[in-house]
Amino acid sequence: MSERAFENNMMDFVEGEDGGGGVGVTTRKSGFTEPRSLLAAALSLKDEVVISTWSRRGVRVHDPTLYTGALGTAFLCFRCFEAMGSVKDLSLCLEITDSCAASAAHLKQYFSFICGQAGIYSLGAAAAKLSGDEQRLIFYLGFFSQIANTADLAVGPEEGGFGLPYELLYGRVGLLWASLFVNKYVGEETIPWSTTGPITDAILAAGRAAASHHGSCPLMYQWHGTRYWGAAHGLAGIMHVLMHFPLSKADAEDVKGTLLYMIRHRFLTGNYPSSEGNAKDRLVQWCHGAAGIGLTMCKAAEVFPMVAEFKDAAVDAGDVVWRRGLLRKAGLCHGVSGNAYLFLALHRLTGDRRHLHRAKAFSNFMYEHGLNLISTGQMHGGDHPFSLFEGSAGIACLWLDILRPEYARFPGYEL
Ligand SMILES: [Zn+2]
Repeated sequence: MSERAFENNMMDFVEGEDGGGGVGVTTRKSGFTEPRSLLAAALSLKDEVVISTWSRRGVRVHDPTLYTGALGTAFLCFRCFEAMGSVKDLSLCLEITDSCAASAAHLKQYFSFICGQAGIYSLGAAAAKLSGDEQRLIFYLGFFSQIANTADLAVGPEEGGFGLPYELLYGRVGLLWASLFVNKYVGEETIPWSTTGPITDAILAAGRAAASHHGSCPLMYQWHGTRYWGAAHGLAGIMHVLMHFPLSKADAEDVKGTLLYMIRHRFLTGNYPSSEGNAKDRLVQWCHGAAGIGLTMCKAAEVFPMVAEFKDAAVDAGDVVWRRGLLRKAGLCHGVSGNAYLFLALHRLTGDRRHLHRAKAFSNFMYEHGLNLISTGQMHGGDHPFSLFEGSAGIACLWLDILRPEYARFPGYEL
């Protein structure tokens, strides 16, 4: 076993069989977790997350973000409502989101879905819409529009860019993703193209300006001085979000060219560098490496169906994650649970049951061994152990999604 990952000796998919397999630490030979047991485990984990992260006694929410904070618990309740239709989950989601909104002032500098105020207001708007709560919907959309229409977001490099980052976790595409989330749940053009279009223009202009000093990739960005490639801070996350918008031909060509550049400059193993020029082939997770970049390649295969390289690259990324992605961490951002989402996306893209088998195998690994491995220190349960992106809220999301794979979406990344 390596320092980062367990050796994956689970049985891969064999046509005609749909069973699990041994994982070094187990001798179990067949069968995945029964759906009923997995659902019970997901719901019980959700209850534990709620009890551990949320109090109705009016205590101020200390961390109102989706990534590590109480909004992650609200998101899990939202996903639970989507899976089970229980109005109680939706009410709880709104209640938690309201508290996050009341504590959001200190997040002013961040406007993304995952780490900023836009996440609070967009989830609040979606939950209010589904609850039929018109007053709250107006409240949340009002706050969201204020952030989205901040002129600074549309300021391009020629005007200095105001130093606002472009990446997903803290940057401008994080706001764009939140707009897509609002439009999915509240209605198309709720956040109109007249608001998001100038922001996409600024992002593309900045990418071209940075690329022109740099090399042969059409678009390039820096975050804290590093040209990241991955989903959380880099090219994959930025390209992923841009592909959801109605780009001009020239803009679409540059997005396509950037993704092809990444494919052509990946490691021979099929994995991707964490950043431009970084020769270390180490990380295979959502935030850095093949798992998050693979999700972006799945989207590219959908948006550019004539370019066969995207689908091939997505499938290759799946193979890398299967071999090296059974990580010693549990969560979505850099753990086993997040890595399973690439298999679910590949299954939706290709219809190949191999990928669903692999997703179930990773999910099953968490179900059978996760708690034990965490309690014995062989697996890290996250610095924020109940959070959505590092901890058990993300595991519960995965289990709910495994039960309805056609609707599975990586939280905060896939729509
Ligand atoms: Zn991470």
